[in-house]
Amino acid sequence: MEYIDMHAHMVSRTTDDYHQMALTGCVAVTEPAFWAGFDRGSADAFEDYFRQLTEFEPNRAAQHGIRHYTWLCLNPKEGENRELAKEVIERIPKFLDRPTVLGIGEIGVNRVTRNEIATFHDHVQLAIEHNQLIHIHTPHLEDKYKGTRLIVDALLQYPEIDPQRVMVDHAEEHTIEMILENGFWTGLTLYPQTKVTAERAIDLLERYGLDRICAASACDWGHSVPTAVPELILALRRRGHTNELIRRVVYENPIGFLGQSPKFDLLPRSAPGRSARSSEAPVEVGV
Ligand SMILES: [Zn+2]
Repeated sequence: MEYIDMHAHMVSRTTDDYHQMALTGCVAVTEPAFWAGFDRGSADAFEDYFRQLTEFEPNRAAQHGIRHYTWLCLNPKEGENRELAKEVIERIPKFLDRPTVLGIGEIGVNRVTRNEIATFHDHVQLAIEHNQLIHIHTPHLEDKYKGTRLIVDALLQYPEIDPQRVMVDHAEEHTIEMILENGFWTGLTLYPQTKVTAERAIDLLERYGLDRICAASACDWGHSVPTAVPELILALRRRGHTNELIRRVVYENPIGFLGQSPKFDLLPRSAPGRSARSSEAPVEVGV
């Protein structure tokens, strides 16, 4: 079954991972900007990273017939450094017109400190100023509830923000309700440790329905599985769910959110003359 992985840090994955994803039906990934495993030394390092996300990865993905889109920001962890954050945020606008940039993300908080919160607000204002979609990281484990509450409340302070244009990711049992009831989209992160398993994700889908919920592997440097979405498909089948329902979760819902950007389409990137689509046209599937 075709699927879209809404959250995959492909800079940390091998070509074999792209191959496995393509073999299991992946037609598109979106890659939020994140922490490199170490704190970057300068704003120049972020510019290089943004070039990797917007130039190199789309080409690497295209070799496997996968469309690659990205989100730009300075991640929540490095958001603690206010001076660096200001410098990086000043450099982001020149990348926003690039054809595969969908918006600002994944922004949020990590340890929920004052500096992180200030950097979060700077990013939100940047997104408003440039009319961008927003992708939000919520903290893990003991900071999950507090961080998600703070983020949701902070976003609700901005009358300019349409919650339908915001994805609040990494939802769990104790945070999903506050995200959905305020009109945001949400994501279930299928991760072997610290996040939700396929079985827990299915419990949540059965309880809350399918509206405004997506699932993703969030594969990165850690112990993660780039084919977590097809594993979810299999688990949904085992639980007796129909193909229509499964397709909605892994394919139609991501298009519902991402399709709000005029840049998002699923036509093969390499096909000349087929890359543009009018805003009224339905999203087409390539190949
Ligand atoms: Zn991430």
